[in-house]
Order: sequence, then structure tokens, then C-alpha cells
Amino acid sequence: MKPAPKTSGRPAPRQAVVSLEPKTITIPSVLTLKELAEKMGISGAELVKALIKKGQMIGINNEIPYSLAADIALNYNVIAEEQVEIDIFEDTFGEAPEDESLKIMRPPVVVVMGHVDHGKTSLLDAIRDAAVTKAEHGGITQHIGAYQTSINNKPITFLDTPGHEAFTAMRMRGAQVTDIAVLVVAADDGVMPQTIEAISHAKEAGVEIIVAINKIDKPSANPDRVKQELTEYGLVTEEWGGETICAPVSAKMREGIDHLLEMIILVAEMKELKANPDKRARGVIIEAHLDRGRGPVATVLVQEGTLEVGDHIVSGATYGRVRALIDATGKRVKKAGPSTPVEILGLPDVPGAGDMFYVAKDEKQARMVADTTYAKSRYEMNKNVQKVSLGDLFNQIQAGKVKELNVIIKADVQGSVEALRTSLEKLSNEQVKIKTILGNVGAVTESDVSLASASNAIIIGFNVRPEAAAKAMAEEQNVDIRMYRVIYSAIEDIEHAMKGLLDPVFEERVLGKAEIRQIFKASGIGNIGGSYILDGKFIRNASVRIIRDGIVVFEGGLESLRRFKDDVREVNAGYECGLVFHRFNDIKTGDIVEAFVMEEIKR
Ligand code: GDP
Repeated sequence: MKPAPKTSGRPAPRQAVVSLEPKTITIPSVLTLKELAEKMGISGAELVKALIKKGQMIGINNEIPYSLAADIALNYNVIAEEQVEIDIFEDTFGEAPEDESLKIMRPPVVVVMGHVDHGKTSLLDAIRDAAVTKAEHGGITQHIGAYQTSINNKPITFLDTPGHEAFTAMRMRGAQVTDIAVLVVAADDGVMPQTIEAISHAKEAGVEIIVAINKIDKPSANPDRVKQELTEYGLVTEEWGGETICAPVSAKMREGIDHLLEMIILVAEMKELKANPDKRARGVIIEAHLDRGRGPVATVLVQEGTLEVGDHIVSGATYGRVRALIDATGKRVKKAGPSTPVEILGLPDVPGAGDMFYVAKDEKQARMVADTTYAKSRYEMNKNVQKVSLGDLFNQIQAGKVKELNVIIKADVQGSVEALRTSLEKLSNEQVKIKTILGNVGAVTESDVSLASASNAIIIGFNVRPEAAAKAMAEEQNVDIRMYRVIYSAIEDIEHAMKGLLDPVFEERVLGKAEIRQIFKASGIGNIGGSYILDGKFIRNASVRIIRDGIVVFEGGLESLRRFKDDVREVNAGYECGLVFHRFNDIKTGDIVEAFVMEEIKR
């Protein structure tokens, strides 16, 4: 805790005749100073001032953690109890860790990612076609956002939306959906910007990566070059003693598909993916839309338990009864177990993609949860979701929200990316680690913003601009994008924010004292305090406080500091000067003015 300066201006509490029973309030784990003041029943401004006097620089809109709030409140004879936040879903559907013996192996859930035109769609098609041929359906499968295939009678679930946008959108809502990411890299093109992005997305999500080196049918294919390039991103192929499986394929010629699927099963078996099928289902909404003929349609991925026709489900603020289940081949089914994608018909409205869904024990429970979520989401909507930002880094650290500062670097040339990455990462210290989750060449795109949003990262752009859509998205999602033209400024900015991270201790240093001896009225300016500097000195941009009869009547800044008619930067003891205060006019002769600065004490 910061030492209280000698000049604590808060008068000692008067001896109250009435009961000294402390007041008790309930506060959330994080709140703004303003919210705390309101709960305590005092003015926010007063609280800020009192804290400044104690050397604590906390703005009225800054968020503070419960522990600090409780300390502050105690000084006012208020006991602050921490409010227990209830997650209605956790509360209703949360369960104790399950007996492992109840769980059985489940199919892996796989997503396909990679650079544009490297063959993601072709690969997904090739896999789907192979499944259709094998099952002798003869027909075409419909696109419902996911499908299942199998190899050696072992099923695999593929999310049918190529690219990492969908994947990241789900993660942003906290849904951990995929087990394995197939990274498609064209053998004739090698590692490209979106390949690197995909690697970052997968790594951030802790998802296993299997590389599919595609287009090996092309004469210009050079799989070894791809493997070589991937090593730079920490993916070292097994052949070279690493742990990454690289499977050569040709989506076009349908070559190597079975081998790739076998590799997926191999990785899945190592991961021992299991779930209990004998309980009420829960899972994720993969895709949802309004179908003209069928009403709201949602494709869901069952993650645990078994979903059945007739179940009452709830997802976000939507609840309803499952009227029909349709699998990825278009067949109506009665139930769907773990890792199975199915379409649900029967919901009254369209749930949000990426949201979890749960089967409730009855309609009443489903409605209760949905109604609570509805009320809460309206409340949350009014409250801005707080993301990490340089300006507020220090407070967020205090609130225990950031221990690692994730950054995304976008620059005009690779050399700058590397320079920034090394310099920034060097700023890491014991309290905060700086981690570059993505660094590449190019403008700041929507994909960067969505990764930043999902990973709570800030974006640093060097000699690049954000795309308009990315900028809009960043504003909407409160992602901090910083643009620089000089590498040094970027480093300096972060370094400054980091100083905040180092728990800065501010101490007040009084510069000088003056007495107001005469008051002049000036039109357009207000009252000018004709003053005499008693000791020390006054400087133009110092903070000042006016003390009248031992009570601080104003604390703030100087509007101007003058000698005769001239604005001056400083006035020393023994001289006269004119003081105009920032937004404060109510001065009196005899007032004592103290000039001070808040100084950061370096550790
Ligand atoms: P996506 O953007 O990653 O989904 O890529 P697409 O699947 O749309 O494929 C981009 C282009 O590459 C298309 O013209 C495909 O026909 C072609 N392509 C995809 N896979 C292969 C392959 O294995 N060999 C060859 N020669 N071309 C391929």
C-alpha cells in the first residue's frame, strides 16, 4: 500500500452521537470507483479526492478489485461484502467431475484452416465425397455446417466451415469446440500470411495441429520447402524429429485422404477424447438460421450426453422443444450422441452461433434459465465489455485481469515485425509477460481483430492502416489498435503502460505556498487571485489546492499563472503573481494556495 502523505486533508471524523454501527454493502468482484461511491452513499468526486490525498491516483471511472474497494470502504466505516456472481447455466447445469468409467471414446471434432486458395474447401469436399461413396448413399450430403465421416469404422466429425473466422467466433464466446485443426498448406505456395494466422489461432486455443500438404499433384509442388518453412513457426515434422504430423494430399486427385484421416484418428486416440453419453445433452450451436419453410434451424454439435427428440433445450435466451433431429446426411434421427452434429427443428427463434446449449429437465427449468439470461444480457449490453487497453493496463492488472499482455503485430515489412517482436518481448518482467500471438505483414484485418478479441490482445500496427471494416469491428468489440510510424514510440508506449503494471507509487511533492491577497475580476476570465508566493515556487502546470481555514476547498489545476500581464512558467518565493484556477472562481482573500506535483516513485 502506498504511504499516506503527511498532508492528509480529510478532517478526522467527528465524534458522532448516533450509533457507530458500520454500514454493510454488497459489491461485485470488480467495480468502478464511481459505483463504489454510490453504494457507500458518498460523492464520487469526494472519494477520488480523499484517495489522491492518500497517494492513490484512481480515476472515478477506473475499475478496482474487490479487495481494494473493501479497504477504501472500511475507512468510511462501511463493510463491503463481495457479491457472489451466479452463472445461471453453471448453477443449473454445472456438475461434479464425472466418474471416468462412465465415459466412452468419442469422435474427434476437426476444423480445416489455412491460406486462401490452398484447398480447404476442396479438401472438405474430398473428405465428404469419400464418405458418401463409402456409405453408398449415392446421394449428396447437405451442408449443415458439419458432417461426419469415418475411417476403419472410426468416426470423425468435421466442421464444414473452412477458415478460422467461424472457429474464432466460437472461441470468443468461450466455446471450446474443436480437438484437432487440419492446417492446409499448398505445396506449390508454402506458408502464407493466413497460414501463420491459422497457426496462431490454433495454438492460442490449445488445439492440436495436423498439417495437410496439399496439391502434391502439381509439378511445382515442393513439400520439403513447406516443412522447412513450418519449422519457423514451431511446427517440426516427425521425419525431422519433431512432433507435427505432415500428411501429403491432393484434394483434387483425391490422394492421401485416407492417410490423413488415419492420422487424425491416431492423434485423437492419443488425446483420449471421452464423454459420457448417458445423460442430458449439452453442446454448442455451430450455425443457425431462419429457414422459410422450416422456421428456425440450428446445427448443433453434441459434446456430452445424448440429445433426443422431445428434449427441452435452452441456449442463451432461447428455449424450446426439439421437434426433429436431422443428421448431416439429411436423415431424420431420434437421438445424437457425443461429437455428433445434428440439425434441430422446433426452436421458437434463432439461437446464437457459438453459444452453448443445454437440455433442461423440463420446460419450466428451460424457461427459467432463458429468462434469467435474457434479463442479464440486457444488463450486460448496457455495460461495456472491458478489454485490455494500453491506457488502462495498470488498472486491469490491479483487478487481476491481465498477467500476460497479448499483442498482435502488423507491419509493412517482415523486418519491422521481427524488430518489434523482439523489443516488445524484452519488456516482459516478473509481473507481466508480453506475448506476440501473431506477427505478420499487412493491414490490420477483421481476422486480426477477431483474434485480438478472442485472445484479449492489443494490436500494434507499424506503417500500416486498419481496414475500414476492421476499424469498425475493433470499436464495436473494444479492441485497442495502436498505430505507429516509429518503432521506438511503440516500444516506449508499451513500456510506459508497463510502468503502470509495476504498481507505481505516487507521492505528493509540495512545490510552494502562496497567499491570495487581492481579487481582480476580469471579464472572460473570471476571478484572478493576486497572490504572494510565501515559499518554494509555483509552476504553470502544477496541481494546486486552495486551503481556507484548514479545509481544502478546491483541488485541481491552474488556468493561468501570470506576472503582471504576461503568462509565465514559474514564479519564485517573494514575488507576486496572478492565479486563475481551472473551473473554480470562488476564491477569497486570505486563501492559502499550495502547488504540488504527484511524483512516481520508481522501485
Ligand atoms: P480454399 O480457398 O482454401 O477453400 O481453396 P479451394 O478449395 O477453393 O481451392 C483453391 C483452388 O485450388 C481451386 O482452383 C482448386 O481447384 C485448387 N485445388 C485445390 N486442391 C488442389 C489439389 O490438390 N491439386 C490441385 N492441382 N489443385 C487444387
